[in-house]
Amino acid sequence: MALMTGEQYIESIRRLNMQVYLFGKKIDSPVDDPILRPSLNSVRMTYDLAQLPEYQDLMTARSGLTGERVNRFTHIHQSTEDLVKKVKMQRLLGQQTAACFQRCVGMDAFNAVYSTTYETDGKYGTHYHENFKKFATYVQEHDLTVDGAMTDPKGDRSKAPHAQADPDLFLHVAERRPDGIVVRGAKAHQTGALNSHEIIVMPTISMGPEDKDYAVSFAVPADAEGIYMIIGRQSCDTRKLEGGELDVGNSEFGGVEALVIFDNVFVPNERIFLNGETEFAGMLVERFAGYHRQSYGGCKVGVGDVLIGAAAVAADYNGCAKASHIKDKLIEMTHLNETLYCCGIACSAEGHPTASGNYIIDLLLANVCKQNVTRFPYEIVRLAEDIAGGLMVTAPSEADFRDPRLGPVIDKYLRAVPGVRTEDRLRILRLIENLCLGTAAVGYRTESMHGAGSPQAQRIMIARQGNLEMKKALAKKLAHIQA
Ligand code: SF4
Ligand code: FE
Repeated sequence: MALMTGEQYIESIRRLNMQVYLFGKKIDSPVDDPILRPSLNSVRMTYDLAQLPEYQDLMTARSGLTGERVNRFTHIHQSTEDLVKKVKMQRLLGQQTAACFQRCVGMDAFNAVYSTTYETDGKYGTHYHENFKKFATYVQEHDLTVDGAMTDPKGDRSKAPHAQADPDLFLHVAERRPDGIVVRGAKAHQTGALNSHEIIVMPTISMGPEDKDYAVSFAVPADAEGIYMIIGRQSCDTRKLEGGELDVGNSEFGGVEALVIFDNVFVPNERIFLNGETEFAGMLVERFAGYHRQSYGGCKVGVGDVLIGAAAVAADYNGCAKASHIKDKLIEMTHLNETLYCCGIACSAEGHPTASGNYIIDLLLANVCKQNVTRFPYEIVRLAEDIAGGLMVTAPSEADFRDPRLGPVIDKYLRAVPGVRTEDRLRILRLIENLCLGTAAVGYRTESMHGAGSPQAQRIMIARQGNLEMKKALAKKLAHIQA
């Protein structure tokens, strides 16, 4: 079965025995939980769209491992064309869900681990690449969703993993056995962990020789014994429990993050991709981060498309679409959004093969892409709020709007352009609220800042990749300065 349907995906997640906690309680069936379900629906779209002939070229690819057609989210990139299509696929999904569809972290981990294991084996004669290829083939053949888990809690930021007061603040090998390792620690902000079949763990920073036990990468099922997840809160999340759907803004789709605890989890030898080779930790981090910084040039742009559209609809409903300053604000939002897309496409088109043969983005351009993502969505949100007007945050609740006595009053006083239903005006404002301040703001705003690495992480990479010496030489040559 190379491609699952959306329904099959949902049922396959339902069969997992994951340990999920929310509001102090264990959730018996995360798939049916009203707060969590929209996030599952977002991942489901990565399956549903892959079934449609018109999206086959974007959503699927011919696997270099199996020769079969597989979902692009499980693909090892074979060309710069694959890299470009990845970004286009992410924009499409952002447009369709206006949320984080989560499955990209696994795809990005796949491609980073693929090339890094190859180079680690080259130096140490280990068998990590074979291990990984076997795992990747299994994932492709079953069309699984994989969580890419990188970010450790990190404790005291001034100290290396081995120097932390609590050794578990970075995930580490706690025990070595003949048949595998036992790991302990946690991964924070884990996008889509509870909607994934498998979790690939990677180190979170470059490491020195003393951090040997922390330089570890592996894959385990999301319901492996010892793993449990504590779901992160999102602004306005309990609106999903109120019974209606208008106030949620985007009731069908959402994202989800969790603190994932690894409480002495056993990893068999054949699922290990790095185990103590500290100098390759940095390579893995740099490559995963690079791929995920490219990803933001697709997914955030797709969500931006929805926000720009919503702002334009709000302007129509308010009767101010022809005002020149409104038109100009929409132009500015579009300019910013397409600039992000330019970055996503450029770092893909400028990609190159790694030693293992898979393709990697241009790291400098991918970091520039993400650095822009830490800024532009904020400005796009600011302009959307400007266009939407204050009603976006002062409108009465759906319950009041449905009330037989209050509803007609709200309808009368919040009506704007004749012919537009007050309810539709409220709907578009709630969608904008959701994207700017509500549950989706995690994915569109704050994740734009910190997801795939906080802004300073990109600046370090830009400094490293910027080739300042070459630029100085150019200037000196033209100025006729010797040496
Ligand atoms: Fe994919 Fe974007 Fe979510 Fe990352 S933030 S998992 S790139 S949708
Ligand atoms: Fe992310």
